Amino acid sequence: MSRESPAPKRTGEGPLAPEAARELVLGEVVPLRGEPVPLEECRGRVTAAEVKSAIALQPFDNSAMDGYALRAADTEGENPSLRLVGESRAGHPAEVAVGEGEAIWISTGAMVPEGADAVLPVEDTSEAEGAAQQPGGSGGNQRFVLPARPARQGENIRRAGEDVEAGQVLIPAGRQLRAAEVAVLAAAGVAEIECAQQPRVAILGSGDELIPPGRPLGPGQIHDSNTYALSALAREAGAEVTSVTHLPDAAAATRQALAAALSPELHQISPLAGRKSDAVRPPDVLIVAGGVSVGRHDHVKGALTDLGVEERFWRVALRPGGPTWFGVLGRDGGRPTLVFGLPGNPVSAMVTFHLFAKPALRALTGLDLDAGRTHATLATAYRKKPGKAHYLRCRLELTDQGWRAHLTRDTQGSHVLTSMLAADALALIPAERKEIADGERVEVELLR
Ligand code: AMP
Ligand code: MG
Repeated sequence: MSRESPAPKRTGEGPLAPEAARELVLGEVVPLRGEPVPLEECRGRVTAAEVKSAIALQPFDNSAMDGYALRAADTEGENPSLRLVGESRAGHPAEVAVGEGEAIWISTGAMVPEGADAVLPVEDTSEAEGAAQQPGGSGGNQRFVLPARPARQGENIRRAGEDVEAGQVLIPAGRQLRAAEVAVLAAAGVAEIECAQQPRVAILGSGDELIPPGRPLGPGQIHDSNTYALSALAREAGAEVTSVTHLPDAAAATRQALAAALSPELHQISPLAGRKSDAVRPPDVLIVAGGVSVGRHDHVKGALTDLGVEERFWRVALRPGGPTWFGVLGRDGGRPTLVFGLPGNPVSAMVTFHLFAKPALRALTGLDLDAGRTHATLATAYRKKPGKAHYLRCRLELTDQGWRAHLTRDTQGSHVLTSMLAADALALIPAERKEIADGERVEVELLR
């Protein structure tokens, strides 16, 4: 969601508080427009407009049971016996109405025939044949239903419009469509939904030491995990990853690869059948991990600035994730690209994605920005130097006293990637604090 006040531009020297950094990011977001999405493809997408139901649900009065549609009044008295005059099956309404002393076989979901005001379940009846059961009946093959108890008026009838009235709003704008929403939309007969375009994300990983998984490591080499982690995170946040690129530790090649990643050509999506939106669009978000810092072989910041990306902040008073960079590439008459330079350390890359890139992706599609915060008691004491906020990876346990946060690993180093496994949340240790006692209540931000 773009904020009403103009975004604060580049802040002064010194690291920013994480909340201030997040506000700077959100201030740059220009929400994506809508596009029609077929129902079969809408799961995970976000509505760009509210969706109303053209029809009532249920569309007609129908039976909740297999049984007999009848008039409740006819089931009073001694040994009532009702003449069966037809059948109402699901999708095949009865051709006759229910008259006095009559009943109609009815299936679950079948239309309640005219004249009937109750459905008596088959379990509460028996059937008989022939004129003997009904003095004055036509005899022969005539069948009768014998109610075992009186029916109540309206019993087992699901009324038209009981769930949804025609014209009612089914789904508000800015709602992520999950299985329940898909089900309701299908029931209401909605085949196409106006959804926010999916953010397009370009991902780059920087470093000569990086080898893709599946290839053996040479001396000093490690497997690239960041581009995989960030692609998965971006997809989990509802984005389309349109390019993944590796950057060597060389200035010219870094610049060239970043220029390509920022250009629209790399982000052509093969159009979905009948898709009415633009297929060529520059990335909405570019994320580069590694090479952002101040080492002799870190070329990313310089290349981005050369390419016209304007820095908004550099460094956040945060651990892990201090060396985080954020800038914006404005485009004449077009949407800007938000550029995140995340630290290369794998935990830092994932945590800063969560703190800064994910809220931007949510805001681009119009999703609410509630970061999902609650409180938990820390299961172990924690010590740190004052100055930076520490975001600890925790598993949450529900106890009688509320949530309890257990560190996933005792060591919270930004290279200890397995500390992300089973992490439900980040426990937020404020910058000024030196020590948190075991059992102290802290704020936690949910990771899922
Ligand atoms: P850098 O930010 O380039 O100085 O990298 C910081 C640390 O993160 C170094 O130990 C890098 O080897 C590591 N690193 C950088 N990129 C990746 C990546 N894509 N996958 C795994 N580790 C990485
Ligand atoms: Mg590097």
